[in-house]
Amino acid sequence: MPDSTRRDFLKASAIAGAAVTLGELTLRSALGADAPPSAPARSGGGPFSPSWTDKPMRWAQLTLVEDDPGKFDLQFWLDYFARTHSDAVCLSGGGCVAYYPTKVPFHHRSAWLGDRDVLGELITGCRKLGMVVIARTDPHATYDDVQAAHPDWIAVTADGQPRRHWASPEMWVTCGLGPYNFDFMTDVKKEIMSNYRPDGIFINRWDGSGMCYCPHCRENFRTATGHDLPRTDNPRDPARHAYIYWRQERLFALWRHWDDAVRAINPDSCVIPNGGGGATSSLDMKYIGELAPTLMADYQARHGLMPPWANGKRGKEFRSTMGRKPIVGIFSVGLEEPYRWKDSVQNPEEIRLWAIDGIANGLRPWFTKFAGSVNDPRWLKPVEDIYEWCFRAEPYLRNERPLARVGLVTSQQSTWFVAEEHGARNAAEDAALGWYQALIEARIPFEMVHDRLLDAEHIAQFKTLILPNVTALSTAQCDQLRRFVARGGGIVATHETSLYDEEGGPRKDFGLADLFGVSFAGRAAGPMHNAYLRLEHNPARAHPLLRGLEDAPRIIHGAWRLEVTMKEKFPSPPLTFIPPYPDLPMEKIFSRVPRTDLPQVFLREAGQGRVVYFPWNIDRTFWEILDVDHAKLLRNAVEWATNEERPVTVSGPGVLDVTVWRQKNSLTVHLVNLTNPMMMKGPIRELLPIGEQRVRVQLPGGVRARGLKLLVANTTPAFQQSEGWLEVTVPSILAHEVVAVDL
Ligand SMILES: [Zn+2]
Repeated sequence: MPDSTRRDFLKASAIAGAAVTLGELTLRSALGADAPPSAPARSGGGPFSPSWTDKPMRWAQLTLVEDDPGKFDLQFWLDYFARTHSDAVCLSGGGCVAYYPTKVPFHHRSAWLGDRDVLGELITGCRKLGMVVIARTDPHATYDDVQAAHPDWIAVTADGQPRRHWASPEMWVTCGLGPYNFDFMTDVKKEIMSNYRPDGIFINRWDGSGMCYCPHCRENFRTATGHDLPRTDNPRDPARHAYIYWRQERLFALWRHWDDAVRAINPDSCVIPNGGGGATSSLDMKYIGELAPTLMADYQARHGLMPPWANGKRGKEFRSTMGRKPIVGIFSVGLEEPYRWKDSVQNPEEIRLWAIDGIANGLRPWFTKFAGSVNDPRWLKPVEDIYEWCFRAEPYLRNERPLARVGLVTSQQSTWFVAEEHGARNAAEDAALGWYQALIEARIPFEMVHDRLLDAEHIAQFKTLILPNVTALSTAQCDQLRRFVARGGGIVATHETSLYDEEGGPRKDFGLADLFGVSFAGRAAGPMHNAYLRLEHNPARAHPLLRGLEDAPRIIHGAWRLEVTMKEKFPSPPLTFIPPYPDLPMEKIFSRVPRTDLPQVFLREAGQGRVVYFPWNIDRTFWEILDVDHAKLLRNAVEWATNEERPVTVSGPGVLDVTVWRQKNSLTVHLVNLTNPMMMKGPIRELLPIGEQRVRVQLPGGVRARGLKLLVANTTPAFQQSEGWLEVTVPSILAHEVVAVDL
C-alpha cells in the first residue's frame, strides 16, 4: 500500500486497536452473565448523561436531500415544528452531504448550497422555538475523489473488489470499522460541534454495510483474534464466532471515540447511534443500555406480514436494557417495503396506529420525513393530530415504570450463537413472536426482559418469566432463574430452552433440567406431520391448563418436539402425545397409537414458585399457524404459573394491546385497538370502533383514586373503587384510549 495509506492505516490501528478494550473489560467478559454490570441500567443516569435527554417528548426529523438548499421552504418547517409542539429536532448536518460551509477535506458540500449555511439557519430557527437540537450524520457512502485519495476508506467485497453503492452506483460504500469512520467522520463531528454546539449528534448507518474485507479489517481482525475474516455465517465456525464479538468491540470503540470527541467540545452533548434493537440485533443491547443516555428505536413502519404491535415490541425491547432512560420511536410517514418508495405517504390510519402502539408501549414519538420539499402533503395533518394529542396528554405519558407482572425473555446470544438444528436457529425470535401474539390476544400486560439482566433487581417487578425457546443460557443465568423460582416466581419455558450454553455449545441435558423436572433424552423429532395432543380431562377436577378446552378431546401438536425422561412423577398430566400418522392416502389416515402415557407438558410447584415446561415448539408453531387451541394453552400456562390476579383485566370484544403504567401522580391503562381486517398486514384501510370494555385495575398499595378521565374521548366517566381495585367502563375505542387515574 502507498505510504500515506500505510500511515493512515497504522494511525487508525493504533487508535482503534487500543480502544478495543472497554476500560479494563473486554467486551467478551462484559457480555458474560458473571461480569458485574458497569452501570445500573435501570436506574438511569449511567456514566454519561447530558442534562437535556429527559426533556423532549415529541421529536421531529427533517432529512434533507442534496438539492433542498436551493428549493426548500425553511419557514414552512419551523412553522410545522411549532404547530406539532415538537420539542426536539434532528437536522441533516454532514457525512454524505454537508449542509454547511465545511472546511474538512473531502467533506462533500451540497452542490446546491451556494454561500448558504442551511444547517446553521435551521438550528437558529429551532433554538428560537426552544427545541433540543441534534445534527444528523451519515457516513456510509462517499465519492470518487475520496476513493482516489484514500482507497483504504472504501469497503471491499469478499472477492477483493472495492464496493460500489448498491443504490447510487456513482458512489462508494465506506468501511465502517476503519479510518473513514475513526478519523474522517470524527473530524466532521468535531467541526459540527464546534460550529453549532448542538445537543447531540445522531449517527445514521454508522455500523458498516455488511462484511468488509478491506486491508484494515483483515489486519485488525487477524491481530485481535488470530483468524482470517470469516467467509461463512455459521456461528460454529471459529472465525465467525470470534467476528461476532470483534465487530461489536470495534463499533463500541468507535462510539466511545466519537462520544469523547464531541463531549470534549460540548460536555453536555453525546453521539446517538441509530439502531434496531431486539434479539436479532448484532450489537449487544445490554452494553448499549449502559452506554447510551437515550436511544431511538428505528422501526419506521410495517412491511410484509407484521402486526401493529411490532412497534410497541421495540419499545419493550429497548426498555429491557435502557430501564427508565428515555427511549424514542422513529416512525415514518411513508411505506417501508423492499422496493423503497422513500417519497411515499401512507394513509393516516396506518400512520396513527403504528405510532400510537409505540406510544402506548413507552416510546416517545419521532416522525421522520425525507426531503425538505413536500411532494405529498397528506401526512402533515395526521401527524399534527397525533402530536397535538401527545402534547395535551404529556403529564400522563411521562411514565415512571410499567406495572406488568409478566416478563418475556429475549436472548441475543441465542440468535448469535445457536446454529441451525431442529429448526432452532431464529426460532428464538419466532417463538417470542408467537408468545407476543398470544399475550396480546389474552390481554395480559407484559414487558420484555434481556437474558443478561436476570439479576434479582432487574426482575423484581415480575411474578412470571417466559422463556420462549431461549436456547443459549449460561450456568450463571440458569442459577439466576433458579433463585427467581425459589423466591416464588413462575417460569414458562418451551422446547430447547437452556439446551446450549451462552456461546452456543450444546449441552447433554437442559441447564434447567431440575426446574423442568425432566431431562433431555438425546433425540429431537420433527418436522412432525399430523401429530396430536390428547387432552386428559379429569371430570372431578378441571385442570387449569385446559380452561376453554373443556369440550376438546384432542388438539393439534406442534412441528418439533424433544424426547425427555421424567426425573420425578407427574401424576395426571393434562396433555399426552398422539404420535404422527400418515396424512395420505385418505384411507390410511387413522391413528395407529391413539393413546400414550407421554406427557407433552410438565407442570411443577417448587416451593412458592411454579414451572411449566412444554417439550415442543408450541410458541413457534403458534406464530406460524395461529391455532386458537394453542393460544388458550399459552394463556393458561402463564396464568397458572403467575398464580395471582392480573394488575389489569379488560373484558369486552376485540383485540387490544393493553399496557399499564405508573407516573409520578397517576396511573394509566393504554388500550390500543388492533381489531381490524388489516391487523396482520398493513396498511389499515379504516379504523373500526370496538364496543364496551370493562376495565378492572389494581391501585398501588394503599392509594386511592382522586379522579379518572379517558384521555382520548376526553370524558370523565363514573368509576367504582374498593379494596385496592378500581373499575370503569370504556364505552368504545376507535384507535386508542387511555384510562388515566389521578392518585
Ligand atoms: Zn473494512
